[in-house]
Amino acid sequence: MSVQDITLIGVPLEAGAGRRGCIMGPDAFRTAGLSEALGELGHSVRDVGNIQPEQVSLPETPGVVLKNLDAIAGWTRALHGRALELGLRETLPIYMGGDHALAAGTVTGHAAAANELGRPLFVLWLDAHTDFNTLDSTRSGNLHGTPLAFACGLPGFESYLGHPLNAPVDPGNVEILGVRSIDRQESELLLEYGVSVSDMRRIDEIGIAGLLRPFLDRVAEANGLLHVSLDVDFIDPEIAPAVGTTVPGGATFREAHLVMEMLHDSGLVTSLDLVELNPFLDDRGRTARLMVDLTSSLFGKRVFDRPTRSF
Ligand code: MG
Ligand code: MG
Repeated sequence: MSVQDITLIGVPLEAGAGRRGCIMGPDAFRTAGLSEALGELGHSVRDVGNIQPEQVSLPETPGVVLKNLDAIAGWTRALHGRALELGLRETLPIYMGGDHALAAGTVTGHAAAANELGRPLFVLWLDAHTDFNTLDSTRSGNLHGTPLAFACGLPGFESYLGHPLNAPVDPGNVEILGVRSIDRQESELLLEYGVSVSDMRRIDEIGIAGLLRPFLDRVAEANGLLHVSLDVDFIDPEIAPAVGTTVPGGATFREAHLVMEMLHDSGLVTSLDLVELNPFLDDRGRTARLMVDLTSSLFGKRVFDRPTRSF
């Protein structure tokens, strides 16, 4: 197994979510032992602490109900800059969220870095939702439902960075797995932009490995970089309750681990978001520990490394 240089960055952001609590996410990942678990696998891990947002004050837009747009713009700008810088270094960043709005900064920063390196960026989005709303299409106004649309260069997001995105992700390089809740307008946009979306029914019928393998083959053939964005609600709420947007019928324990194991075997992952962990809704740290365990699988932990529990 290859040893990785890993940088952990906390993103205490909850302004994009409809419920409060994700601000505690980074500390829950620390308490659940993310750094130690990756260190025990032989990797070199450095926790650089929490990133702070820029202060942004946008002019009021009358009649538009977008929640905390100033705050999201501030986080996006700070994260975009940091992700661009880290994407050009020999380290694998893990962004410990924080709600999914953080991906507006991380994905676009890594896309900008990939562009400088002359390589395509691919994105694997593991989520019950597609997060492909624009600022015009969102019904809830919760901006954690928009980062993927922004990263793919959809129009109307100039306020996020203060300027247009100069290296958007090719929507054809995005794979969304685990979907079971989607707005009608989002669905039309996904079709229009040609994003590959697999809902839980496809996972049931084809199997998660059969969906993931062709995507990983494409990344390898294109010599691409691969950003993985893991939303807690990808996993079934029965085993991962600490999320504000639970939707029944999510990925099972084994399906989620299999994705992580295949990602590890591929050796293709270059950056990772762990998002939407809401410790306020957790059951004695159970979801935080599951997320740490899944991340360990992505970094080489195998089934027979796990101790057998006796009762
Ligand atoms: Mg999400
Ligand atoms: Mg979600």
